[in-house]
Amino acid sequence: MPTDSQPSSPLYSTYARADLRFERGAGVWLETDDGRRFLDLAGGVAVNSLGHAHPHLVATLKHQAEKLWHVSNLFEIPGQKRLAERLAAATFADKAFFTNSGAEALECAFKTARRYHYVSGNPERFRIITFEGAFHGRTLATIAAGGQAKYLEGFGPKVDGFDQVPFGDHAALKAAIGPETAAILVEPIQGEGGVRSVPPQCLRGLRELCDAEGLLLIYDEVQTGVGRTGQLFAHQASGAEPDIMAVAKGIGGGFPLGVCLASEEAARGMTAGTHGTTYGGNPLAMAIGNAVLDVVLADGFMEHVRDMSLRFKQQLASIADRYPDIVEEVRGEGLLLGIKARVPNTALILELRVQKLLAVPAGDNVVRFLPPLIISADEVREAVSRIEAAVASLSLASVRKSA
Ligand SMILES: *Cc1c(COP(=O)(O)O)cnc(C)c1O
Repeated sequence: MPTDSQPSSPLYSTYARADLRFERGAGVWLETDDGRRFLDLAGGVAVNSLGHAHPHLVATLKHQAEKLWHVSNLFEIPGQKRLAERLAAATFADKAFFTNSGAEALECAFKTARRYHYVSGNPERFRIITFEGAFHGRTLATIAAGGQAKYLEGFGPKVDGFDQVPFGDHAALKAAIGPETAAILVEPIQGEGGVRSVPPQCLRGLRELCDAEGLLLIYDEVQTGVGRTGQLFAHQASGAEPDIMAVAKGIGGGFPLGVCLASEEAARGMTAGTHGTTYGGNPLAMAIGNAVLDVVLADGFMEHVRDMSLRFKQQLASIADRYPDIVEEVRGEGLLLGIKARVPNTALILELRVQKLLAVPAGDNVVRFLPPLIISADEVREAVSRIEAAVASLSLASVRKSA
C-alpha cells in the first residue's frame, strides 16, 4: 500500500530518487525539464565516459540505427570481432564475451573460472574469494560475491561458492585458500566500497599468490575501466595482469554494454553451448562500443584524463586542508575521486545539489566524483568552486551549531 510520504508510483520502490527530472545533456552538463543546469560529476556512475550527447557517439548511433540493430548470436557479428580484437590488442586478453551489464560480465567471469577448473580435471574447484566492501552487482551470484548483508538480506540462501576476506588482510586471504578455491576476485579500486585503492604491489602479490596456488585472478573493472583512472584499465599501472576481467559501464558511454575478457587459457572451458545471451553484443551495441574506443584510444586522451585528475585532486586537497572539519581525506585515481567526509556523505551531496553539482555516495562515508572523462580544465575549476561553496556552507553551519 502506498504511504502518505511515498505517493503511489507504478515503479518498484527500490530507489529513493532525487526529485530531479533531466531532459537533455551536453558534455558534463545536464539540464532539467524546468531549465536548471547541473554540472554532472555523477556521470551516470562512471557510465557517461564521454559525457552526454558526444557527437561521435550520436553520429554512430544514428548511422547504425538505420542499418541494423539486432541479430542473434547464432550469426557472425563483425562488430563483435572488431571490438574484441581492439580490446585484446590493448590488454592481457585473447577472448571476449559481450553482455548488457556489469553483473552479466561478472556472471560470465564466474562461469569461465569454474569451467576452467572443470575441464582441467579439478571440478571440485569452484569457490571464489572476494573482499569485504566489494560490489559486483545485484544478481543472486553477484550479491553473494559482494557479500554485503544489506544486499543479501531476505533473498533466501546466499549462492554458494563465495568466500569473503577482510580488505588488505594477507593472512586471512592465505587462510581462505582451500582445495575448492578456483579464483580470487578483486576490484583494483573499490568504487561503491568507498573509493578504496588496492596498492599496485598488492595486485602483484595477488598475481603471485594465484600463480603459486593454481588459481585464476579475476578483476572487476566495471567501474575502473575504459580510461577512468588515466590508464585504459586501472590494473595496467601495476603490471599485474588478470586471467579474466569484467568490464561494463564506461565502455558503452551510456548504451548498455559489458564484456568479459579472458586469456585463451582461462577461457578454454567455454566451448559451444556453455554460455549465451540474447542481446549481448548486438550490432547497435558493438557500433557504440567501437565508437567509444575510437575516442578513448586516440592519442592524448589518457594524458588528458591524467591532467584533469591531477588538477582536480590538487584542488580537492586544498579544500581538505582548509576545511578539515568537513573533509577528512581525498581518495582515488584518475577521475574516480572521492572525499571522505566528516559530516554524513548524504548531507554533503544534498549541499552539492544546492550548488547544482551532482555526485554519488559511496561506502565509508565517501562522496564520489565520476565526471565524464572529457571534462575540461575550466569545468574542473567550476566544479571545485561549487564543491568549495558546499563545503564552506556546511562548515559555517557546524561552527554555528557548536557556538
Ligand atoms: C556497477 C558495478 C557492477 C554492476 O554493474 P551493473 O551494470 O549494474 O550490473 C559490478 N561491479 C562494479 C565494480 C560496479 O561498479
